[in-house]
Amino acid sequence: MRALVTGGAGFIGSHLVDALVTEGAEVLVLDDLSRGRESFVNPGASLVRADLAGPEAGEAVLRFAPEVVFHLAAQASVPMSLADPAADARTNVLGTLNLLEACRRAGTRKVVYASSAAVYGDPRYLPVDEQHPLSPLSPYGVSKYTVELYLGVYHAVHGLEWTALRYANVYGPRQDALGEGGVVAVFVERLRRGEPLDVFGDGEQTRDFVFVGDVVRANLAAARAGSGRALNVGTGRATSVNTLVARFSALAGRPLEVRYLPPRAGDIRHSYLADGEARRALGWEPAVDLTAGLKMILRDR
Ligand code: NAD
Repeated sequence: MRALVTGGAGFIGSHLVDALVTEGAEVLVLDDLSRGRESFVNPGASLVRADLAGPEAGEAVLRFAPEVVFHLAAQASVPMSLADPAADARTNVLGTLNLLEACRRAGTRKVVYASSAAVYGDPRYLPVDEQHPLSPLSPYGVSKYTVELYLGVYHAVHGLEWTALRYANVYGPRQDALGEGGVVAVFVERLRRGEPLDVFGDGEQTRDFVFVGDVVRANLAAARAGSGRALNVGTGRATSVNTLVARFSALAGRPLEVRYLPPRAGDIRHSYLADGEARRALGWEPAVDLTAGLKMILRDR
């Protein structure tokens, strides 16, 4: 397979590149290294350092003519999108349009897109399935949803196949403390420095933590199946922040110091994703439980 991975120097993208190279794919990474690192890029892949929204990106796609494009490059921070919505839209919407135009001209068969649970907004029921109303609460959520709509248009008008994977909170090695699903990475960083773990509110808020290796397998499956669909990629399980602290304490072999701080405005109380559709459409299911995933991060540091 000739595969382009945008954002392939980032947290999730770099793990996907590793898996594609292992599978024997010919892989091009497109990344401006604004957040990703060159050292994360597998030596078996080529790297083009370019802005997704600029002309060089389009030229690189045309030259490489990928069969499949895994589109993960993005401004991936909710707070950043609130601080500068136009910059978020420039990368996430205009950058993606630049990419889709190049895909169309290059004869790309399929785009597998990294969407987000942020498209749903505050859950009206749990678990959140794909039929849940789409009501994003941040410019980031709007830009992620907008791209799903464009993918539908590019299929209708140009026949480009697509699957949007709506990730829950992804965690794993190489994640930095600034990204969207950051609480695990923040705790790892605090542990490493011997600092207390900050918990906002009572710690009973829940999230759906999905291991990066499982997200990679969902992407690989989506290259071959699930066309024309948006699919949740989560574990179907709610984990509270207090449970996360307890798992870290168990792994550290000692109780960890926790600082309880006032709740953050706008934080969603409970969220987890129904994972049945991805099972049916992709034959995919998450395989790594939280303790095993946390162990892999701690071992990697
Ligand atoms: P990341 O920041 O590590 O990766 C994004 C990559 O895109 C980085 O390497 C960055 O340098 C690159 N990039 C940013 N702007 C660019 C531009 N203008 N041109 C070219 N490259 C650019 O983030 P991640 O956590 O690996 O996220 C990957 C994708 O998954 C993103 O699309 C994100 O929205 C989505 N996502 C992530 C999570 C999560 O929990 N981490 C959850 C839902 C969705």
